[in-house]
Amino acid sequence: MVRLALAALLFGLLLPPSGSRAAPPADGLSEDYLRRSGLSALTVAGVHVYHSATAIEAAQTYGAAIAAALAWYRAELGWQGEVAVAVLDAADWQAMVSLPYPVPHAERAWNVVVMPDSVERFPGFAKWDLDAALLNEALTFHEVGHLVSPGLGLAAGNHWIDELTANLFLAAYVRAERPDLAPILAGVPPRFANPGPFDQLFDLDSFYAGGGLENYAWFQFRLAALADRIVRNRPFAAVMQAMGQAFPAEGADRRLTVPETLARLERVAPGATALVADMGGAGLLPALVPGACPERVPAAGRESLVFLDNRSAAALGYRPFPSAAPFAQLPPGEVVALIAGAGSQIELDAGTCLAVPPGYARYSPGG
Ligand SMILES: [Zn+2]
Repeated sequence: MVRLALAALLFGLLLPPSGSRAAPPADGLSEDYLRRSGLSALTVAGVHVYHSATAIEAAQTYGAAIAAALAWYRAELGWQGEVAVAVLDAADWQAMVSLPYPVPHAERAWNVVVMPDSVERFPGFAKWDLDAALLNEALTFHEVGHLVSPGLGLAAGNHWIDELTANLFLAAYVRAERPDLAPILAGVPPRFANPGPFDQLFDLDSFYAGGGLENYAWFQFRLAALADRIVRNRPFAAVMQAMGQAFPAEGADRRLTVPETLARLERVAPGATALVADMGGAGLLPALVPGACPERVPAAGRESLVFLDNRSAAALGYRPFPSAAPFAQLPPGEVVALIAGAGSQIELDAGTCLAVPPGYARYSPGG
């Protein structure tokens, strides 16, 4: 039997493996956990910073950077929230964090920014020609952006828009207050080449960091440059208001097609999407072509992931085959990820079928 379901949960499984170790807390680093963890703590301008014993200087630097940025976001956006920070060395990171060291990230459930003591061991770093401490400082603004944006009613069902939004926080603050950090906004560093496998926004949306950390960093450099173009010479509040209209939180459970996201971004910042015109394609996944529905469907094999990417102007109806259930409807401009057994069939409302291959595949009417 074919099983069709949202596959969002699978995305998390595609992150790079983090190796064996004592289990970090399953629900992430809350401030409560940090308080009980035995880490040292300090308070910088009201911001609680929990840190490894070896990372006190980094904790002071990044704590101060985050405190100053929060003050600016509050003044510009009227945001009123609190953020706590963890600054961890490799040993504490291994014990407490599921993501590999040293990947800065935001614990959205807890309003905690988790920073490594240094980004020097990030894959690819040697080819970026950026100062490690300044880069790590700049990345704190990106992570804070992940925590502030939901409070502004802004959330997206597309990973790439979510990451762009965090980079808007980075770019706006750097341009306003920290011009010394502007090299982070200059795009892909000249000596750094994308190691692949992905270079399209569709793949970033589908697999997030599943292409590996260097590949993921390449996307972040591209999105930082786009963010810089979007925030330039405009009040940040106006940018965020336009983003909130384009990507309202009510739509965060629906993934949009890349062309639809680009059309909405054009309304936010006319001309800006030319910077990512090379990233709007189909991506790496094999393309499915509809054919006649078979007389007999063999027993389904292992679960595959099929993306329906509706770049056409009409709704796309789909259902398992055979089935008497009504067709589910995928509106134009939206993407859905279906889990189905390899060898099974997905029927389309045109009366044709998609044969599900092993692994991953994509079907896109109109694109
Ligand atoms: Zn991010």
